[in-house]
Amino acid sequence: MNYITHGIGGIGAGLLVLTVAGQGLNETSQVLITSGAVLGSLFPDIDHQQSYIAHKVPVASFAASTVFKHRGFLHSPAFIILAWILLTAGSRFMLSGELLWMANQFITGFIPGMLSHIILDTLNKQGIPWLWPYKKRFRLLSIRTDSIMETTFAIVLTALIGYRFIQ
Ligand SMILES: [Zn+2]
Repeated sequence: MNYITHGIGGIGAGLLVLTVAGQGLNETSQVLITSGAVLGSLFPDIDHQQSYIAHKVPVASFAASTVFKHRGFLHSPAFIILAWILLTAGSRFMLSGELLWMANQFITGFIPGMLSHIILDTLNKQGIPWLWPYKKRFRLLSIRTDSIMETTFAIVLTALIGYRFIQ
C-alpha cells in the first residue's frame, strides 16, 4: 500500500488505542498516541528506498534497505515485538519522569501503528512474511499498490474509521 493508505490505517490504529484506553487520557497523551500510530504506520517501509518515509530519512533508509529486503524482517511481527522491547527498554534506560511518560505514550501508538502497516500490506499481492524467519509470504487479497483498487479501499477505510470513531 502507499503512504496515504498506511497513514489512514495509522490514524485508525491510533483512534482504536484511544478507544480501548478509555476516557482517562489527557490531551497530550491523545496527541502522542495518535502521532506515534501514524509514524508507526509509515515506519516499516523504511526498508524501501522509494517510499515516502525513505525520502524523509534517506540515510536511515539507505542503511535499512541495504541490510533488509523490502517486505522482509521489517514487515514481520517478529520485528514489531523486537521494536517494542527495544523502545520500551531503551526509553526506560535513557529517560525518566515526564519524558519517560511521553515516550511510553508514543510507543503505545507506535507499535499498533506498525501492526496496521503489516495488516494492510497483507491485502497486497506480494503479501507479508507473518511467520518470519520462515520466508513464506501470506496475503488475503491481491490489491496492487497505487491502483484504483487501492484508492477505492482507502476511501472505504476512511469512511469506516469516520463512521466508527468520529461523531
Ligand atoms: Zn510496506
